[in-house]
Order: sequence, then structure tokens, then C-alpha cells
Amino acid sequence: MQAILTHLTHLLGEAGIVRAAADKAPYLREWRGRLEGDSTAVLLPKSTAEVAAVVRLCVQHGICLVPQGGNTGLVGGSVALKQQNSLLLSLKRLNRLRAVDAANFSLVAEAGCVLAAVQQAAAEAGRFFPLQLGSQGSATVGGLIATNAGGTMTLRYGNMRAQVLGLEVVLADGSIWHGLRGLRKNNSGYDLKQCFIGSEGTLGIITAACLTLVNPPRHPRTAILACASPQQALAVLGVLHADLAAFELMPQLAIQTATTHSTGHSTGHSPSCRNPFTTPYPWLALVETHNIALEPALATLLEKNLILDAVLAEDSVEAAQFWQLREAIVAAQKQLGASLKHDIAVPVSAIPAFLDAAARVVEETIPGARLYAFGHVGDGNIHCNISQPVAMCAAAFTAQREAMAMLLHDLALQHGGSISAEHGIGRFKREEFHRTVAPVELAMMRQVKQSLDPKGIFNPGVLF
Ligand SMILES: Cc1cc2nc3c(=O)[nH]c(=O)nc-3n(C[C@H](O)[C@H](O)[C@H](O)COP(=O)(O)OP(=O)(O)OC[C@H]3O[C@@H](n4cnc5c(N)ncnc54)[C@H](O)[C@@H]3O)c2cc1C
Repeated sequence: MQAILTHLTHLLGEAGIVRAAADKAPYLREWRGRLEGDSTAVLLPKSTAEVAAVVRLCVQHGICLVPQGGNTGLVGGSVALKQQNSLLLSLKRLNRLRAVDAANFSLVAEAGCVLAAVQQAAAEAGRFFPLQLGSQGSATVGGLIATNAGGTMTLRYGNMRAQVLGLEVVLADGSIWHGLRGLRKNNSGYDLKQCFIGSEGTLGIITAACLTLVNPPRHPRTAILACASPQQALAVLGVLHADLAAFELMPQLAIQTATTHSTGHSTGHSPSCRNPFTTPYPWLALVETHNIALEPALATLLEKNLILDAVLAEDSVEAAQFWQLREAIVAAQKQLGASLKHDIAVPVSAIPAFLDAAARVVEETIPGARLYAFGHVGDGNIHCNISQPVAMCAAAFTAQREAMAMLLHDLALQHGGSISAEHGIGRFKREEFHRTVAPVELAMMRQVKQSLDPKGIFNPGVLF
């Protein structure tokens, strides 16, 4: 290993390799602190050619590579483990914005570009990059593509897969696939970029992407609607669907927790987090539209008794406060002790039945546990986060992690859903993935892995 590290230092320069324990630490800790990784060194290439040289050297010596972007992934996929003879490859320094083509509604960004920087570059060109999520100040283009990230605007603009026009990828033999086409129509053979989108670093190292842009919203409006039940919320979703950019559903328990325990630290917003209603309505739907006047639509919903109440944000500051209420839920839940998190998707039509069944399962399995089922309900994605019962010790509660995950995943599958809506499988959900995936699907995935990474050097332990 010593000789290889010397060679890597020669390839990357002193600034491209981190070996001191204190400097490596931030790269090795999983976002929620559930996994401590290990890597003799952290590699920081700053060009595609350097990535390719690293891959060639590592494959030659049987060393595996764990690609990492912003390290905000929530399934343990970006952490290198020593027993797997892996080195951590951070794409952080490969972060140039290579080109913006406003007329083609596209830009080319390197893998280490942070999402907020892409959004900013699009805005400066008079365009809009629609992917938005809570980690946008740290999550990178490479990580977003490798996890096929979703977020709050999926309902209108699709997830990351829908934003990718072309890719540049370093393959497992160290060759470079130059697939950075800015085309919306290209039926010349297999659409190979799709293999790498959502592959969680197991098939190749994404080094750059051509991303699609849209025009900025003409008339962005944000409102919070009070609903009696998830069924009523779905009726509202049905009425507004064509005009919606986002539709997030939050139960009263989540609103209470967010307003009582919010610190504001995780979101970077001010600590004030306010419920716009004085009545504790059972469910609140946060809606955003981009190109219509929302007022008449809300008046109709009220007239037809499809909602209990509504507050329309007066300006962008109030709109941000509304979003803060939604974003504060997870951080506020931390104040209540240990929690178990599940990233589930079901068809939108199955949401009410799934929510009822999930509440029953949680109460029967851990009486007194508090279920926070909230999230991107407009696209069927429910984050089922469960806080420990007040009188239970955290260790006894977290000992139920696997059992609870199995129950909720089975429930999601019974409702035609998925065990991972947007975070991926990574290391944490690998067993559950193997327990629940159809054997024929798993076999096809293994064949893809075998054909693109025959020596298994990319991200061992993730997915397989
Ligand atoms: C506060 C918060 C809010 C979040 N909200 C959302 C949300 O709304 N929607 C959502 O989908 N996710 C969300 N996430 C999860 C996370 O931000 C996304 O999964 C994001 O896409 C990860 O990007 P990253 O750059 O941090 O990737 P990392 O965490 O570094 O890596 C994630 C995976 O991608 C692989 N990878 C990284 N870079 C590359 C590359 N260049 N080539 C190949 N493989 C690579 C890694 O090996 C790993 O398997 C949230 C996370 C946090 C902390």
C-alpha cells in the first residue's frame, strides 16, 4: 500500500491526497453518524484525467474505490470501509462549471459542483435548474446523479434522471466515456447514461454531466392548506395537479413538533418556525405553483369545502417561512430522542390506506412510538419517521430498527410501493433490498454490474 500511496501522490500532487487522521475524519463519517468509515488515504483528483489514472492504478493492484460527493447520502453509500480494501475518492475538487448554453437550455457541470452552485449558474443565465432539496448547499452533481435524487419539485420537473442529458464517466478499466451530449432526442443505440443514473457509485465514476434547464417560474406562489384527512388532501391534489410544482403533506404532530422544538440550525434559517393557523388542523398541505394565479384556485377549493382553510404567502420571505416549517420537522424530531427513518413510496392513490395501516403497525409493534409520516406526497413519497416513546430507553427502541423496517417495507410492497423512494439502497438497506427484490431483477442487476465492473472495484458492499 505504501508504494501505491507514493504513486498516487505522484499522480495527484500533495494537495490531492489526504492522509492525516484529523483531515480525513469529515470524509469518513456517515451523515447521521451511523457508520464510521476508514480509508488509508482520501484521494482528491481535480480532473477527469486524474480520476482515470487513479482507477487504472487501483484496478491494477486490486484496490477498490468508494466515490464520494457531498457525503450527504442517507444510506451509507459514500463511506469507505477498511476491511473492503477500499480508498475513498472524493470528487470535491472536480468542481468546475464547464459551459452554460442558455439557447440550448443546458449546462455542463463537473461532478463535484454543489447543487446550489448549479442553481445559481442557471439563474445567472436567465434559466432555472429545478432540482431542490434540503441538502442543496452540500450535495453534488455526481452524488445527485448516482442516487437519482428527488426532492420537493419532482412532481413538476421529475427527479435527477429527468435533468440529465449527457454524462462523462470513468469506467472500471480507467477508460473515459465522453457522453456529454446536450441532446433531447438521441435514439442511436442503448441510452447508456441511464445505467449510471441511480447506480450509487457501483458502475463507474461520474466526472461531469450535461444538465437540462428550464425557464424560471413566471409566477411562483406558495400556500399552506388545511385538510381534514389524507383523502381530502388527495382530492385537492387531483384538482390542482396540472399546475403544481410541489405538494408536501404534514400531520399535525409534525407541525407541533416543528414549531415547539425547531432550532433553525439544520436549515440555516432563523429559529422562528410558525404555524400560520391558530386552529390545530389534522393535516397541512404545503403547495407551490409556478405559472398560475393561485388565489382563484384556493377560493374555489374553499367554496367547494375541499379544504378547511388556506393561507397564501404574501411574498418570497413568507414563502420561505412556509418551507421552513416543512424543513424543520427532521431537526425538531431529533430533540425527541432516537428515531427510525423510512423512505417509502406508494402509488398516490394508495397513500390514505398506507398511512392508516402504517399507524396501526407502529402502535402494535412499539406502543407509544410517535409516527411522523410526511413528505413529497404529490409523487407518492412518504418519509415514515418514528420517534421513540417518551418512557422507552433509546437503545431498546433502536434495537427494533430492523424489525420495524421489515414491517413497513412489507406494507409498502403490499400497497404496490418501494422500500426506497429517493435515498437509494447503499449499505444500510442492502439486506432489505435482497429480501424484497424479485430474483429476476436482482439477477439482471448483477449482470449489469458484472459487465461494467467485472473486478468489482467500485463501491463494494453497496447494493450487492
Ligand atoms: C438535510 C438533507 C436533506 C435531503 N433531502 C433529500 C431529498 O429531498 N431528496 C433526495 O433524493 N435526497 C435527499 N437527501 C439525500 C442526499 O442529499 C442525496 O442522496 C444526494 O443526492 C447525495 O449527494 P452527495 O453529493 O452528498 O452524494 P454522496 O453522499 O457523497 O454519495 C451518495 C452516493 O453516490 C455515490 N457517488 C457520489 N459521487 C459520485 C460520482 N461522482 N460518481 C459515482 N458515484 C458517486 C456515492 O458512492 C454514494 O453511493 C437529503 C440529505 C440531507 C442530509
